[in-house]
Amino acid sequence: MASFSFSREGFSSVLEALGGRYALWGPKRLKGKGRFFGTDLVTCAPLESFDSLELGEKSSVSPKDIVFPPDETLFYFTGDRFSEPPLEDERETIVFLRPCDINGFRRLDAMFLENGGTADPYYRRRREKLHFFMIECRESFENCFCVSMGSNVTDNYAAAFRFGEDSVEVEVKDPKFTEFFAPGNPSSFAPEFVKENMKRVTVPAVEEMPPELFVSPLWDEYDSRCIACGRCNTSCVTCTCFSSLDLFYSDSRSCGERRRVWDGCHLDGFTDMAGGHSFRKKKGERMRFKTFHKIYDFRKRFGYDMCVGCGRCDDVCPEYISFSECINRVSEALKGGEVQ
Ligand code: SF4
Ligand code: SF4
Repeated sequence: MASFSFSREGFSSVLEALGGRYALWGPKRLKGKGRFFGTDLVTCAPLESFDSLELGEKSSVSPKDIVFPPDETLFYFTGDRFSEPPLEDERETIVFLRPCDINGFRRLDAMFLENGGTADPYYRRRREKLHFFMIECRESFENCFCVSMGSNVTDNYAAAFRFGEDSVEVEVKDPKFTEFFAPGNPSSFAPEFVKENMKRVTVPAVEEMPPELFVSPLWDEYDSRCIACGRCNTSCVTCTCFSSLDLFYSDSRSCGERRRVWDGCHLDGFTDMAGGHSFRKKKGERMRFKTFHKIYDFRKRFGYDMCVGCGRCDDVCPEYISFSECINRVSEALKGGEVQ
């Protein structure tokens, strides 16, 4: 492990050199692509240079697209043969991300690589090429509650960065990157982590969720308030549901491709089954399902909570539904308190 200090110009040169060998991804501002007229979208996207790295605002889209694209062709089929498409970019990828998202990848790994004993090959081939460059987070953004979820801290990174007004401090953990940073001045930098968020949640510490809570009136408000847009699912770094579709080409029913496409527990049609069956028709039931998955069911299987408290679901909900508030309501209800 070694630390270095750079001027911003010096760091630009390092990034240029890294970009010659690796694909670079990180938070980036897309002008005019925001949800309201004239606003920008901050998302995780390929970076051309240091200038394109957005450091002042939280990305409203998580970095999970890198390993789990919204729409992915798994294989093409022709008669009794099939072939898998190559990756769009075969290079190893460096992604700049914050501690909560690195912890989000821990959850993605659990679901795609460790769940049920079979690793997902389509996830794995992308994940194996990924290196985390951690952006130090000493202050919280609006709606973050990572400290309550215990995901404000991580040591799972190849290098960590503090971006100052005039300088960039780097701690390099993975020796394969040391040569790129060696031209910098030696430094004693070690990253710090946010210790307090403005938002706090109390995660229910129960082994078994009481059945009464599944039918509690606390879910009823979401029936009318939620519009089933699914933005909370698509923005979430730990939501991994998808649908598989076979597309048949119009000139032959034996040729086509299989795709997997993001889906979400808030969306209409998510629970549709053969025979016309459908479950969780009410929006409140979907909110209950998501909430229990994020702070209860996942923990029963893997030993830690699924939600990392990034707060993106609260940032993007057009109906101002607060997931952090929902967690607190569940805890309140479990204590026997009044649910507001
Ligand atoms: S549920 Fe919300 S706060 Fe939790 S990880 Fe997903 S988007 Fe972030
Ligand atoms: S973003 Fe809000 S309105 Fe849309 S599905 Fe999620 S909770 Fe419902």
